[in-house]
Amino acid sequence: MTTPFDEYRLIEDEIQKCMKCGNCQAVCPVFSVEKTEAGVARGKIALADAILKGRIDLDDPDLYDRVFNCLVCKSCMQNCPPQVNFDKIILAVRSAIVKKKGLHPLKRTIFNLLFHKKALFETGIKTGAKLQSLLTKTTQSGEGRNLRFPIGILDRKRVIPSLAPTPFRDRVEEKIICSNPQTTVAFFTGCSINYIYTGIGDDIVEVLKKNRVNVAIPKDQYCCGIPVFAHGDIDTARQMARANLDALEKTAADFVVFGCGSCAGAFSHEYIELLKGDNVYEPLSMKWKQKAVEISQLLLNKIDFVKPKGQIDEVVTYHDSCHLRKTVKVWKEPRELIKAIPGITFKEMSKPDACCGSGGTYNLTHYDTSSSILKNKINDIKKTTAHIVTTACPGCIMQLVDGIEQFGDGQIARHYITLLAQSYKKEA
Ligand code: SF4
Ligand code: SF4
Repeated sequence: MTTPFDEYRLIEDEIQKCMKCGNCQAVCPVFSVEKTEAGVARGKIALADAILKGRIDLDDPDLYDRVFNCLVCKSCMQNCPPQVNFDKIILAVRSAIVKKKGLHPLKRTIFNLLFHKKALFETGIKTGAKLQSLLTKTTQSGEGRNLRFPIGILDRKRVIPSLAPTPFRDRVEEKIICSNPQTTVAFFTGCSINYIYTGIGDDIVEVLKKNRVNVAIPKDQYCCGIPVFAHGDIDTARQMARANLDALEKTAADFVVFGCGSCAGAFSHEYIELLKGDNVYEPLSMKWKQKAVEISQLLLNKIDFVKPKGQIDEVVTYHDSCHLRKTVKVWKEPRELIKAIPGITFKEMSKPDACCGSGGTYNLTHYDTSSSILKNKINDIKKTTAHIVTTACPGCIMQLVDGIEQFGDGQIARHYITLLAQSYKKEA
């Protein structure tokens, strides 16, 4: 494979595109809090260049912290005149560090479990679900859980999500057939819907059934690989991408649908980058990129959408998932679906596309910066007077729930598809 994630020198052309204008500062969530050049894309590109030219060694003890102090939210790429693919640069640096120094043992163990020992991982999740009430208790709002005592980097005020007693894919049929179907889709659930927010999975299935769509939910799908890729473990991310493409191939579906912006981004962008030069899987990644649709795109652009009739009298706003908006370029369709629900008053935030500070695991490793970014988001939500903040990404929901508990006024965070499913249910 000859990608910049395998051969670091191949990133040189991308680095040279940066004209050092500093436009990225205006939109970088990390810079907005830390106000240092090291936090912004321009500073990190300078670092990547120094590595390339041998001025900084991959073993440099400060390098790791600087390179991982980034959400890979791609906001900088939306405001960059020469369109530098900054995500490629930062992931190439992370990959080069991992190749030289190896993965942190904890990450190696988790990623290994996620892919090579999935059955053991799932046993751990199910055991965790059974034992979670020993270590955690439900928050007053009932929207998440607090630790009973601090554990590691998690403090007691932090809200963490509940693990589902049974993973979504364990309790649903692998094939759901409708009469007179409009099309057949594969549902790529992703980890958050499978292990945590299983109700979103149910809502997606209900909405698909209501729209007469056959659904295949392959049991042999894995994590999309984005968190693994973001931590520089290219080999495991690539194996996950191949395994997921194999699982989809078996379904022979017309489309693959997502309820998670990051998973949708994996199929529409990252798999193409990861599998470049792979004789078998590069063509497959291209094929499934063409079939990849976020559920709102399927409903509004690919089939005859059944308009919801059930009344929901709520003021609602919408937070753009970075990966869905900035990678997949989807932002109009979820809003259109929300506005189609009778009774809803839709209020836009002043910066709905500003990152919430989640960044996959960034909110674990950089909680203070992540929390300051989140506070700005919650303040923006408050100004809309909305009681419900919707989004298209379970990772953002997790972050928003924590933010509402710390800085909010009792708002609730929901996937927008949940409102659509509720409207259909009310009408029935
Ligand atoms: S906006 Fe783009 S070109 Fe300008 S400094 Fe940032 S990364 Fe470089
Ligand atoms: S990806 Fe996001 S956090 Fe990272 S440098 Fe760009 S704007 Fe800042």
